[in-house]
Amino acid sequence: MKTIPAATLDALRRYAAPFADVLPPALAAFAGRDPVFPYAPGSPRGLAVLLLAAALHWPDGEEAAVRALAWLHARFGEDLFRLNRVPFEALAEAVLASGAYPDEGERKRVPGILRSACDFLDAKGPLDAWLASADREARVRELAGAVYWMGKSSLLKNKARYFFWLVARAAELKGGTLPPAGLAPDPKAPAFAWPVTEGHGRFYQDFLRAPLSAGLDPARRLALFADLARKAFDARGEAGWRLYPALEAYLRRGGPLVFRCREAQGGCRPCPLNARCPAAKHFLPAEK
Ligand code: SF4
Repeated sequence: MKTIPAATLDALRRYAAPFADVLPPALAAFAGRDPVFPYAPGSPRGLAVLLLAAALHWPDGEEAAVRALAWLHARFGEDLFRLNRVPFEALAEAVLASGAYPDEGERKRVPGILRSACDFLDAKGPLDAWLASADREARVRELAGAVYWMGKSSLLKNKARYFFWLVARAAELKGGTLPPAGLAPDPKAPAFAWPVTEGHGRFYQDFLRAPLSAGLDPARRLALFADLARKAFDARGEAGWRLYPALEAYLRRGGPLVFRCREAQGGCRPCPLNARCPAAKHFLPAEK
């Protein structure tokens, strides 16, 4: 990978800072006085919830996944982790009753995903032990291959990587038995990559000036952003997971006239990327 200017890395770090303060919906459900899930997110049951949330993950679907899991937890209690033993029709009815998935196509996949993820939990036992016994990249492949709709045929395997991103964030919260996996590169998997999305591709073309071909091959894309996370964050003693939410939001629409990055930055004027961001010129004149 070509050398990235120090000023670009510095701007990226400052741009990423506000995103690190936002808990994703799956982790927010463990927080507060009356949490939806009364476990530490880094405990075995907490990790099982995170696995179910990651299995149901798709862009703009984070809240729906948590809403469905909260409903199922209220309905089935601890059997949330044994949904593979709930008759398929009963589970499908409960998912429908949750109201989390108005789209029938999405909703139809959910029971199969949950039953498959619970098969995985049955087979592996407590996930903290499973996580500790191999490198993250190997675990990504295992998870993607074992759980329905989790990326068996995907070259990026973003859903399985998203589980590790949730685990990394959980490791920084209090409670649980996880080692601080999110704080440092995994020595057993130095090339481990966080999820890579369309926002990452836009950032690469706008700020790193890569030839278009560099963005097309999944293996190269994963390696590029693993390297960027190391250079921008790990090398400075910061958690590499910070890269994913920041670039995932880069020029991502959150409504007809809304970019998610602008929401996080409080507009384009305070944004450290505004000097070279192609969208900034459309917003800056109207910002005081
Ligand atoms: S649109 Fe605005 S907030 Fe988003 S990256 Fe560009 S300058 Fe920053």
